Amino acid sequence: MSNLIDGRALAKVHEERLAKKIKLLGQKPKVVSILIGDDPASVLYTNLKQKKAEELGIEFAPIRFLVDEDFDKVAGKIREFNGDPSVNGIMVQLPIPDKFLKDHDWTELPHLITPEKDVDGLVPGSPFLSATARAVISILEDENVEVSGKKAVVIGRSDLVGKPVAEKLKEMGAEVEVVHRSTPEPTKICDQADILISAAGSPKLVRSDRVKEGAVVIDVGTSELDGKIVGDVDFEEVAPKASKITPSPGGVGPMTVISLMENVVESVTRRN
Ligand code: NAD
Repeated sequence: MSNLIDGRALAKVHEERLAKKIKLLGQKPKVVSILIGDDPASVLYTNLKQKKAEELGIEFAPIRFLVDEDFDKVAGKIREFNGDPSVNGIMVQLPIPDKFLKDHDWTELPHLITPEKDVDGLVPGSPFLSATARAVISILEDENVEVSGKKAVVIGRSDLVGKPVAEKLKEMGAEVEVVHRSTPEPTKICDQADILISAAGSPKLVRSDRVKEGAVVIDVGTSELDGKIVGDVDFEEVAPKASKITPSPGGVGPMTVISLMENVVESVTRRN
């Protein structure tokens, strides 16, 4: 299908480019990843990041804590990494287990990370775009999608995905509207979009009636439905109407890990 955006192929191009860039850096970037508890999805995602980092020539140090670890000890570790010049990036794997947090808010730990090392873009004021948001923007750039002057609609307004994507698209000159759970008449807003980004985590949320003929459709959503990973977009229904469309899985997902690694490398080049 000619309008299908192949996230895996795009990620490969980014990987090759980044590996070359790392060789030319003259130093091995180092990132530490704090993982609290043993949630299987968090362990899996951390392992995935480690594998990709090491393939690229980035030193990846997973720092694991038990779920009953003292909050202040983990906080102290983050402060220590902030002051360690050999560490370029610090990540905290989300979600942070409630059992560990007790009376603390989950945002407290990310807020301790010094902005120049906040490669996940978790904290307002971080110079980095969150990896998923960066992945969405890179896809639009790689696919030569004109953003300036276009109408873009973003479904979802989370701090990690919806909000930063909307902000970046505004910065790039798009007229942006955000749709969330309590937005009245979302179909009437979505079907005006030249660029429709869905980051809700709700299967079949985007059906053909929400899509303008010729729109670019980016599906960030990943949910489990009947034992299968699916996106927010009803692909079969929407693909014939879209000028370009990402599948899910196989679209934004593969671009996300490499986008994170691009942030890590940027943390080195910004400092030098
Ligand atoms: P979140 O739950 O924090 O936020 C979801 C947002 O979508 C909220 O603002 C909510 O109001 C909105 N929303 C939910 N249902 C809606 C509906 N029916 N109509 C309109 N708005 C609705 O989730 P998140 O962390 O932003 O992630 C969003 C989705 O993207 C999830 O499916 C997640 O798994 C996926 N995700 C994918 C990647 C990737 O690499 N592919 C990375 C991060 C997140």
